[in-house]
Amino acid sequence: MNSPYQGKFRITQRYKGAAHDGLDLVGIDSKDIHATVTGKVVFAGWENPSDHSQGFGQYVVILADGKCYHFGHLSQIKCKVGDQVKITDVIGIEGSTGNSTGSHCHYCVRTSMSPGTFLDVCTISGIPNVEGGVYDDGYRPGQKPAEKKTVKVTLEYGDHKYSGLLEEI
Ligand SMILES: [Zn+2]
Repeated sequence: MNSPYQGKFRITQRYKGAAHDGLDLVGIDSKDIHATVTGKVVFAGWENPSDHSQGFGQYVVILADGKCYHFGHLSQIKCKVGDQVKITDVIGIEGSTGNSTGSHCHYCVRTSMSPGTFLDVCTISGIPNVEGGVYDDGYRPGQKPAEKKTVKVTLEYGDHKYSGLLEEI
């Protein structure tokens, strides 16, 4: 699982495709919003600078692997366009800017900058698509991001011997 939070968070609205193209998430341990991918900040600002109640309000978009990761309704932005961010870096603070009735982060993945075609954020992030659920991302402040490790293995079956690198799951 790879959420914008490091500790516990609640899902207040699930992903419903076109009807709701992302997950609404509320931080329980902290309101810090962390990058969920290593990539480049391609947007950081207001959806409509002259109307702060419109759309995503204050939001950030990170481009990674050809996908645009959106973090909406932020109260504060902690990065700027052009920044290279890595997974778990703090990019903003959860809020209720834009078209929002309470503090949360609208987390969605699109094929391009807003309003690109939406992708299934649950499959990409591993966050369950269950409204009301409380989950713990498992990260803690100061902890290093999860990295895949390779381990050297040697297997022997009778006369056969195999030696190679395996990716740790
Ligand atoms: Zn939402």
